[in-house]
Amino acid sequence: MAPWQPERQATDGVANGGGDDDDGAAEPVLAAEPPTAAAGSEGDFSGATSMAGRLGLLLESLASSSTARFLGAAPGSSRAAAAVALGGGSGGGNGNDACSRPLQPLASAKTAPKRPANARARLGIPKQSPSLAWQSSARTPPLLLYEAVLLSRPDVPRPSQSARDKAKSLLDERLGPSKVLTGKDACERFTRDESEAEGEVPDAVVLATSSDDILKALAVARETEVPITPRAGGTGRTGGAVPMAGGIVLATSGMNCIVEIDRKEGLAVVEPGVILADLHAAVEAEGWFYPPDPNSLKSCAIGGNVAENAGGPRAFKYGVTRDYVLGVEALLIGGQRISAGRRTIKGVTGYDVTGLLVGSEGTLAVFGQTTLQLIPKPASVMTLLTLFSDVNQAGAAVQAIISAGISPRCIELLDASTLEAMRLAGNAINPAAGAMLLMEVDGDEGAVERQAERISGVCDDVRALEVLVAQDEAQRERLWAARRDMSHAVRKLTKKKLSEDIVVPRQKIGALLDFVREISERTGVRTLTYGHAGDGNLHVNFLWNDDHEMPAVERAITALFERVIELRGTLSGEHGIGVLKAPYLPLEQSPELIALQKDLKRVFDPAGLLNPGKIFPPTQHRAC
Ligand SMILES: Cc1cc2nc3c(=O)[nH]c(=O)nc-3n(C[C@H](O)[C@H](O)[C@H](O)COP(=O)(O)OP(=O)(O)OC[C@H]3O[C@@H](n4cnc5c(N)ncnc54)[C@H](O)[C@@H]3O)c2cc1C
Repeated sequence: MAPWQPERQATDGVANGGGDDDDGAAEPVLAAEPPTAAAGSEGDFSGATSMAGRLGLLLESLASSSTARFLGAAPGSSRAAAAVALGGGSGGGNGNDACSRPLQPLASAKTAPKRPANARARLGIPKQSPSLAWQSSARTPPLLLYEAVLLSRPDVPRPSQSARDKAKSLLDERLGPSKVLTGKDACERFTRDESEAEGEVPDAVVLATSSDDILKALAVARETEVPITPRAGGTGRTGGAVPMAGGIVLATSGMNCIVEIDRKEGLAVVEPGVILADLHAAVEAEGWFYPPDPNSLKSCAIGGNVAENAGGPRAFKYGVTRDYVLGVEALLIGGQRISAGRRTIKGVTGYDVTGLLVGSEGTLAVFGQTTLQLIPKPASVMTLLTLFSDVNQAGAAVQAIISAGISPRCIELLDASTLEAMRLAGNAINPAAGAMLLMEVDGDEGAVERQAERISGVCDDVRALEVLVAQDEAQRERLWAARRDMSHAVRKLTKKKLSEDIVVPRQKIGALLDFVREISERTGVRTLTYGHAGDGNLHVNFLWNDDHEMPAVERAITALFERVIELRGTLSGEHGIGVLKAPYLPLEQSPELIALQKDLKRVFDPAGLLNPGKIFPPTQHRAC
């Protein structure tokens, strides 16, 4: 059978959309529909009796003229006026009001301001931080170490010039020059991902088109002792694909073939460079569904998703990538090709090596083909948008919805600062709103309607300002485009930002949000929070403009992480540890657990060549 090929051209895995450096290629975001005569008239709204009709406000607010975009309260509704006119994009609108202004794409990574190579020295921080001493004795490092985290890269030794030259010539010889980039400009684009981490320009970039290419590149790395860093879409948030010591970058985005969709068994076999949105479209066309949906889905790829165990809004109901990976082709730096896992739903043979490799952030093996489980596509979906006067009310609504036994497939929370960022990006949002929940229910049509009614009732009980429902697929898409574009909107507020994807038990969301406000007041660092509230996974964003603010940012991040651990949460729900969170690992994990993981790393990669500088705290990077 001929493999299903996505229409998308193979890219080089340099982040190119959906993320912060999406320049010009930005997806149209919430393009306003052309005004219609009836749109926005209160008659449309008041006459509705069904949930979908009653909540048709959203449609009118999107389609109406700017003056009609703030609609009055529904006749008979006790709730205050609430309208969300999510403007922007290039697809319509009258073009002369703030609501129809397109959101601006972000600067590309290529043009993004670079952190000076020796920012640490520039800021007068000693090269050898005395605080490194904590590692041998205490579990919790003192603040001084944290102050240096953003300012320096881990101490991963760069290979010798002769080793690098040898690696380049062997790659050329074994893969052919068309699959190997060595020019500085070409390689420089692979120095960064969608985080603030900055690596060394790689000496060579391998553009792999097959698992054999991956094995050849790994063999060269092993023979020359040059580090090698796997890369997929380059949308990572913690620097996972950033080459900390230069060496070889193994770009897998040319491996973008959906090898098989088994309609009878409900599984797909895919190469690591397949863009997630392409996989969604392909399996849904066959009546199947692949739930993981990181908001970067238009630019991230399966290899990166599996390596990061990516989640997304739908994880609340459907779980994360690990829950759908049945098996992997794992290519090891020792030259072995391992088939771990199975094609069946169940299977408990031997250790769960697949489970270990999923989420290993490119430090244990490189994925070739991955076998993914699919589930039947839900017959119907409904998207609800609810507005609250403050974030505590929204938090109470989340608790109440879950306690009522309703299981939306996602519950996304946006706090007041995030709404402000959206307003500044051209979205007209009711000024009375201080928090938003974006929720989605799915199932058969009747069940969807019933769940939506129940959610509406619960939100009424906690005095939501308004509950709105998307009326059709186009509106759903617009709402999600706005959510996915949040990063762009936030970027307009600041030169630099770090998004920390912490998780706390759901009943602690309120406490966490209070604490974030407190940190912001205490350190003077601007914050805003949004994220997957249904599973307690919030993205706390720290915003700053100048290098001199970085120590304060570090203190704020440290305080956040310490509080998260006190609340019995975890440091990362989906972005992984990468390089940026590595120094904080001992806050959550005991020295024994870290040592065990390092032992495992040594089994797979004795010389510490595969993606060095990641996961383990600085000075502990070398595997041996
Ligand atoms: C705007 C935006 C929104 C986001 N939203 C979410 C979200 O909702 N949920 C979420 O989970 N994440 C989210 N992310 C983070 C990011 O998109 C995910 O971590 C994603 O899974 C990374 O995929 P990628 O293809 O870009 O991987 P890359 O960034 O290229 O790589 C990520 C890691 O995977 C490793 N890797 C890549 N390919 C392979 C391979 N073939 N074998 C072994 N290791 C490999 C790399 O070495 C690196 O450690 C978001 C990012 C952005 C910019």
